[in-house]
Formats: sequence, C-alpha cells, structure tokens
Amino acid sequence: MDDASSLPTPPRGRGIFCNRTLNLRSVRAVGYDMDYTLVDYRVAAFEQMVYAQARERLASEGWPVADLAFDPRMVARGLVIDTELGNLVKANRFGFVKRAMHGTRMLEFAEQRDAYAETLVDLGDPRWVFLNTLFSLSEGCLYAQAVDLLDRGALPRPFEYASLYRHVRARVDAQHLEGHLKAEIAASPEKYVVLDPEAALALLDQKAAGKKLLLITNSEWGFTAKMMAYAYDRFLPEGMTWRQLFDLVIVAARKPAFFTERSPFFQVVTEDGLLRPMDGPLAPGQAYLGGSAAQVERDLGISGDEILYVGDHMFGDVHVSKRALSWRTALVLRELEGEVAALEGFQETEQRLVAMMREKEAMEARLSRTRLALQRLRAGYGPAPTGDAARLEARIHDLRGQLVALDAEIAPLAKSGTELVNPRWGLLTRAGNDKSHLTRQIERYADIYTSRVSNFLYATPFAYFRSPRGNLPHDPGLAAAAPEPGT
Ligand code: IMP
Ligand code: MG
Repeated sequence: MDDASSLPTPPRGRGIFCNRTLNLRSVRAVGYDMDYTLVDYRVAAFEQMVYAQARERLASEGWPVADLAFDPRMVARGLVIDTELGNLVKANRFGFVKRAMHGTRMLEFAEQRDAYAETLVDLGDPRWVFLNTLFSLSEGCLYAQAVDLLDRGALPRPFEYASLYRHVRARVDAQHLEGHLKAEIAASPEKYVVLDPEAALALLDQKAAGKKLLLITNSEWGFTAKMMAYAYDRFLPEGMTWRQLFDLVIVAARKPAFFTERSPFFQVVTEDGLLRPMDGPLAPGQAYLGGSAAQVERDLGISGDEILYVGDHMFGDVHVSKRALSWRTALVLRELEGEVAALEGFQETEQRLVAMMREKEAMEARLSRTRLALQRLRAGYGPAPTGDAARLEARIHDLRGQLVALDAEIAPLAKSGTELVNPRWGLLTRAGNDKSHLTRQIERYADIYTSRVSNFLYATPFAYFRSPRGNLPHDPGLAAAAPEPGT
C-alpha cells in the first residue's frame, strides 16, 4: 500500500460532518475565528474566572453572593434563557420546551407543561436568549443563581426576571471588556489554553494548497497576538510565526456587525498595536482592526460562496455570515467529541430500546384492533369478530397489563438516554427524542460542523463533503423511534 495515501483515520468524534454539500477544492479562502476555534480554552478555568470577577462586582453592589460557586455543568451551550420567567430551557427543533429549570431547580413535568404548553421558543423575540458559545456558561450559571436570590427576597433592590438578566449580563460583559481577564490569561496561557499540535499542520496544508487564510476575531490585537503566538508558533516550521500563516488578520472585528455593516478598517502597524487609518485596499499579510466582510470580499476579489468561515459562535460566526453574505460556514462544536463517545457507549442500550419499542408498537396495534372489534360488536355494525364481548374484554385487559409491564422496563432505559453527558440537560444535539434547537440551527446555517479545527487535517484541503440523503418518517425500514421518558 502507498504510505502517502494513507492518512490516519480521524479519532472517533473528530470527523467533519456535513449538512450541505461542500467541495473544499472550490473554496478559495478560509476565514477563522480565534477564541474557541483556532485557540481552545479550558472552559471550566476560563469561565470560572469570568464568573468569579462578575460575582465580586455583584458583591460590591451589596449582593449576598459570597457563597455562590460556578458550576460548569449547570448550563450548556444551546440552552435558552427565558428572561420573562427566570428559567433556563431546552427546546427541540420546533421550539417546544422539553426541559426547564427555574433558578437552579429543575421543573417537574407538570410545572413545565403549565409554563410552556402554549409557548414556543422564538429566538427573534428578545424574551429568549440563546447560549451561543462556551463563553455563555458563566452568564447562564450566574443568572440561574441570581433568580434563586431574587425569589428568596435576598437582593438589595427589586428586579423583574428580565431586568435581573440585563443586570447580570452587563456584569459578565464587563469582564470581557475590562483588561483584567485577558491580562491574566495572557500572563499564564498554560493554565487556560489547550494546545492542539495538529492545528498548525492543518492550516499549513490549506495554505500550501493555494487557499488564502484569514483570521477574523472579535478579540483585541494584543490578546490575539499573544494567544496565536502561544498556540501556533511552537508547531510551525523553524523561523515561521503565526503571522505568516495568514493572508489577512482582522482583530476587534465586531462580529456579527462585521458581516452586515460597513465600518472602516484601521491598519495595525506595530507589534504593540499602533493603528493607522486605512487608505487603499487591504494588503496581503497585514493586520487590521474593525472593518467589514463586504470590503474583504471586494479587496480579495472573492465572492461569498468561495469563502469558508469557521467559528464557534452559533449566531455571530455562522448564522449571520451565512444569512447576510451566503458564505460557506463551519461550526466548531468542541462538545461533539464527548457527545459521540456517549452515544457510542449507549448503543447497546439503544438497540434494546428500539427492540422493546417495536414490541410495544405491535402490542398497541393489537390492543387498538381488539378495542375496535369490541366497539363494533357492541354497536352492531361491521364484520363479526371472532369471540364474544367477554373474551374481547379479557384480551384487552391482558394486553393493557402487558403494556404496563413493558413500559416499566422501557422507562429507566429511555430516561438514561436523555441523561447522557449531562444529567440535567442531556445531549446538546438532542432534545427528548428529537433534534434540539441547537441542532436545528446547525442544520440551517452550518454547511459542515466538527469538534475542532485540526479535524481538517484528516479531511485534507481537497475533501468533498457530501450531505447525507436524510431520513424521512415514511422511508421503508426506518427503526421505531425511542420513547420519551415517562411514556
Ligand atoms: P472570537 O471568538 O475570536 O471572535 O472572540 C471572542 C471575543 O469575544 C473574546 O475576546 C471574548 O473575550 C469576547 N467575548 C466573549 N463573550 C463576551 C461577552 O459576553 N461580552 C463581551 N465580549 C465577549
Ligand atoms: Mg470564537
């Protein structure tokens, strides 16, 4: 076998998954987001720091928050804050709420039904705040805990759930904008950054294959330069730095406005970030601040569908670049690796569940037919059934008993399937037995999705990603759906 043609297959969960067919050969430029895309962080450590600083700020405003602790598993990307009711909810692809938490307490099924039976999650309505990225975890956790404090009457002034959200959000926001957080990370990157030795090679492959590489980040110049040097320079050939990887570096891009508005560019002219107003087009190899995607397209002479943009922010990186400019899009979903591992671990149980559901469906069909026979017999119409009413009644009783027994077997298995990865919220990509709201957005806006940038290494710059045909409920031989817990 020819060694050169045998790149190792990607480890499990590190494939590139395709929603819409994408031929990498016709992509002329690949744009990358930085934070949680090119540079991966230890989520618990990073978010713990944001949380702790925001909590300190609230403490200085007289809030009794000293005993609160960050719990990275209390919330998850893809959940939605309901700012009207002070809840966090998980919705399915249609917007139906499948699980909900008020403050830090999970709602019982009946409470959840009462709150949401007639309400669909609609992200166009400011009532709902989608947790778009791993940067959202500190905010979600702190808000849930603040709701508990408000309910206990422990806050120093009155709030509604919505104004409480805005208050907490502003405190979290401030930590990203004030220098302290970034200074701490830049001073000890080894505590916060997860190095990926394969990412640099994946980018080198794309560059040598003739693609223009762009870095488009909302982070400021100083932080970007430190993080990129730390995460990339050590893995590049002798004498090369991260700067030479990119045809264009754009910092403080203000995504999503970057994709929809036309702000001017400034050129970053020195290592310490001195700025100069722009005259003329963007020049190769330079670094810029601000600007707009429209000017990138114009100056590079590249149209929307020739640019692939890779980012982790569901809305700011993927949704808007697709909707506003029809860029090709890739979502980086780091949690996917754990998700795939959990699904694989559950496969055997899943098969048992499917078999039991088949049995249940057959039993239900028998029950329905027997009930109908009894109905017809009593009303005196239709073909004569075999057996008299007493026999049919006994059969119905018997089938009902069997169904109850089968349900008792199914329920715990089904429940464990909805608690994979996170006991409160389950898998990111699923909600109950259906696709989650996050999955729906990924399908709509991300042409491809993958757990990390270095997965492009295994795909090569010449890959042709083809979307699956997609199952429909009427496809022959489709497995019986697994049940909702409690059914
Ligand atoms: P990007 O992912 O490379 O575009 O960079 C994301 C930037 O946004 C980082 O500098 C984050 O610190 C910053 N960021 C993340 N969440 C917030 C927030 O809630 N408010 C303000 N900035 C944020
Ligand atoms: Mg990012």
